[in-house]
Amino acid sequence: MAHSIVQLPIPVNEPILSYAPSSIEKKEVLACYTKLYKTQIEVPMQIGKEAVYTGDTATMHPPHDHKHCLGSYHKANQAVVKKAIEAALAAKAKWSALPWESRAAIFLKAAELVSGPYRAKINAATMLAQSKTIHQAEIDAACEFADFLRFNVYFMQEIYENQPESGAGIWNRINYRPLEGFIYAVSPFNFTAIAGNLGASAAMMGNTIVWKPSDHQIFSAQVIMEIFQEAGVPEGVINTVFGDPEMITNTVLESPDFAGIHYTGSTEVFRAIWSKIGTHINRYKSYPRIVGETGGKDFIIAHPSANPIEVATGIIRGGFEYQGQKCSAASRIYLPKSIANQVIDRVKEELKTVKMGSPEDFENFVTAVIHRGAYDRLVAAIEQAKKDPEAEIIAGGDYDDSTGYFIEPTVVVTSNPAYKTMTKELFGPLVTIYIYADSDWEKTLTLVDSTSEYALTGAVYSQDRFALEEALTALENSAGNFYINDKPTGAVVGQQPFGGARGSGTNDKAGSASNLMRWVSPRLIKETFVPAKDYRYSFLEKE
Ligand code: NAD
Repeated sequence: MAHSIVQLPIPVNEPILSYAPSSIEKKEVLACYTKLYKTQIEVPMQIGKEAVYTGDTATMHPPHDHKHCLGSYHKANQAVVKKAIEAALAAKAKWSALPWESRAAIFLKAAELVSGPYRAKINAATMLAQSKTIHQAEIDAACEFADFLRFNVYFMQEIYENQPESGAGIWNRINYRPLEGFIYAVSPFNFTAIAGNLGASAAMMGNTIVWKPSDHQIFSAQVIMEIFQEAGVPEGVINTVFGDPEMITNTVLESPDFAGIHYTGSTEVFRAIWSKIGTHINRYKSYPRIVGETGGKDFIIAHPSANPIEVATGIIRGGFEYQGQKCSAASRIYLPKSIANQVIDRVKEELKTVKMGSPEDFENFVTAVIHRGAYDRLVAAIEQAKKDPEAEIIAGGDYDDSTGYFIEPTVVVTSNPAYKTMTKELFGPLVTIYIYADSDWEKTLTLVDSTSEYALTGAVYSQDRFALEEALTALENSAGNFYINDKPTGAVVGQQPFGGARGSGTNDKAGSASNLMRWVSPRLIKETFVPAKDYRYSFLEKE
């Protein structure tokens, strides 16, 4: 057999297409959107080589057009979940024995499919399933997904290259073994890229996967599976199960072969899963790896030296893009009294120009929130703010669910820095501003640090280098991704590895080698070329 030490292509971030009027990409994605909108699809679960139809189905609807049906998906029962575990275990030996460069080739091919022939389809599916504008779909489903695949393959090579020193006459090596058992991937609705990456990142390290996507992302999850299949991911390596999340998770966590969870979603669900793993710890063959990126209550703090227009732009983009449904979305804002009015006036003026509606109309900056539950949660917060004397709605505050789950971008100003919308993750287009006295800059930094249980993203705006240093120090543990004079959203794979601590997750940094390290168990091999033949050391000899 011929051998070589291969070098992977150096990854570069996928260029973001503009979708400007009359562009080819705009025509293509809209044609695809219309086609998908008009077709009813039936999504089976993919388990091993079998497409599983249980007959127990649920329907899929665009959040911006909830009376329209896109089709249905089949839901698992316990037996189906067990079958998915068996399929993952059965595929494991052959998959993990495949040379790593073959695994790399499969996922590099998947990246080419995402950014090439499937680009319009995965974007259109994300626009329909998750109500993303074309720009939000493009930076997620096309670019971030392709970036995850290309950069992670490169990080895989970096991990394998990482080898120990060897002393005279010996040779030390490390093998990076996949974990024994299977990995459970649980993904949220809000990023198609995350949904694809949770399984792919662990699979490329030689693991096999049971993947449970969010009920609200299955329409685009189906496109991800199509891409994986065309790229050559073998049967049983990534298996999908849909339906009751609690039943599926309980069944998975009962298996002694459960080797780890790659989770992204809300904090509450992650904590519940972690406790169940703890309860079952005696039954597992290994200590399961627990990786979870969870909620946020992300902040922007402006110093009196900040440029009000830049702060206002950070609030609008950081707070309202994708309807505030990014884990990194800015939702609590701290403004100094001296520039507060300028920032607020600018935000109000700019919001008057923001259009809301279907993502099919490219003039819309804001579309619908994901589902009835999200809509009701946000309406309740808005109605409460209308009643509370310590809160005032200064922009937005309207909502309408007749066609889709539309919530107007809403800005609340509160006199109470611990007001509910300053502390609770609402996950929608609602931003709350607290105005502080300029002289309280240092006290306000402490307030920012201590207000929320989360520590995901945060931003400071200032033209004063001393103030920036103060913020960096005081807010050291307040955010895993910290931004200076920029909005706290929009992390790019390979440039800003993403994740937070405290209640926001295990901070294993998606899109980095540290995340991939969680899916391997190193084996150190020491080889001695000329072994000792006498147990006696020199110190034992007589003087
Ligand atoms: P969610 O918690 O409702 O769902 C996440 C996943 O968990 C889904 O697959 C869901 O079906 C599953 N799930 C729900 N209840 C469960 C249960 N009882 N047992 C087991 N699994 C269960 O979250 P979502 O609404 O899909 O996504 C939004 C949340 O995700 C927000 O809190 C957001 O901050 C977070 N998020 C975090 C990051 C990050 O990188 N930190 C990225 C994206 C989203």
